Amino acid sequence: MLKGLNAIVTGSTSGIGLGIATVLASKGVNLVINGFGDAAAIEAERAKLESTHGVKVVYSGADISKPDDVKAMVEFCVEQLGSIDILVNNAGIQFTADVQDFPDEKWHQIIAINLSGIFFAIKAALPHMKKKGFGRIINISSVHGLIGSTHKVAYVAAKHGVIGMSKVVALENAGTGITCNSICPGWVHTPLVQKQIEDAAARDGISVEQATTNLLSEKQPSKQFATPEQMGELAAFLASEAAAQMTGIALPVDGGWTAQ
Ligand code: NAD
Repeated sequence: MLKGLNAIVTGSTSGIGLGIATVLASKGVNLVINGFGDAAAIEAERAKLESTHGVKVVYSGADISKPDDVKAMVEFCVEQLGSIDILVNNAGIQFTADVQDFPDEKWHQIIAINLSGIFFAIKAALPHMKKKGFGRIINISSVHGLIGSTHKVAYVAAKHGVIGMSKVVALENAGTGITCNSICPGWVHTPLVQKQIEDAAARDGISVEQATTNLLSEKQPSKQFATPEQMGELAAFLASEAAAQMTGIALPVDGGWTAQ
């Protein structure tokens, strides 16, 4: 159903973004992948996605904290692939500290990447989507877009902001063929979460295994991680015709976290 559509997945050199890119490629979607990392590893991933799934995959090294990079990435997608049909705003970072100790530069960096970068990407993509009368904007928020947790002030503020922004984009474009929704993952085992597990293990003097169990037990009733592939399948569904009337919503995939 998605075969031949063209997508950008930001932050797709790792974790959830890579899972989403892989699932979209498997459904015949051409891709702009994006994110940081070792150049040879990124090129290997790009070539593998292309050869495994028979789609065109190009790489943009845009820094999502820089508005000009984000605008250029959207134009690069249109130049290279012919259109932008699906925009998955996934790139994101985390930093944890109490509010009074939270470094100013970390606040600005998280807001720039996790919130403002999404605004600039949507703003650049909308004229192209409107011209085509079709678009699927999928923003990776978090359970932290719906509820709070301690030590994550910038992240929680940004992720709540993403859901609010998505509602406005959905309303302004309702009935045009363009939808905008948020996915709200609970714990997914990626490098971003691994760092939090290792920090907790070091802080509490416990094993990484015990810290992993504690992390899941504290918040996620299923006590199981969600997977990048599950996020990819949900993104593919939101991009499909079946989801044409789903817009402005925030969908948790969190093992029951937000049901509590
Ligand atoms: P990750 O660290 O594995 O991947 C993050 C990706 O973003 C990488 O490709 C990285 O290179 C890229 N990135 C970071 N800063 C960037 C920048 N300035 N410009 C371009 N790319 C940049 O993290 P993840 O866990 O896969 O997280 C992906 C998204 O999912 C984030 O928005 C995160 O907040 C969200 N999320 C993750 C979880 C989880 O449990 N892992 C839960 C809820 C939400």
